[in-house]
Amino acid sequence: MALIINEDCTACDVCVLECPNDAINEGDGMLYVIEADKCTECVGAHDEPQCQLVCPAECIQVDPNHQENQEQLQAKYERMHG
Ligand code: SF4
Ligand code: SF4
Repeated sequence: MALIINEDCTACDVCVLECPNDAINEGDGMLYVIEADKCTECVGAHDEPQCQLVCPAECIQVDPNHQENQEQLQAKYERMHG
């Protein structure tokens, strides 16, 4: 599953540099946004989602609309990183 940022985001910018897939961007509004097609839950790079670890607002959750298993997440990572 990709992760999603909820409305508690304070746009603090802390998560952006932690993402190994460059999947987090400043959104159009006040909230930061995770690109679902780039988020691998950090599979391929880290043992756990780095953005969740560093987010002071605890506003990053799994996105039930983007169901993927471990193999799919690994394949997604490898597609991006060759
Ligand atoms: S879980 Fe990992 S890959 Fe997904 S947005 Fe967070 S830091 Fe990036
Ligand atoms: S670390 Fe959390 S509060 Fe800060 S920009 Fe990222 S999602 Fe928003």
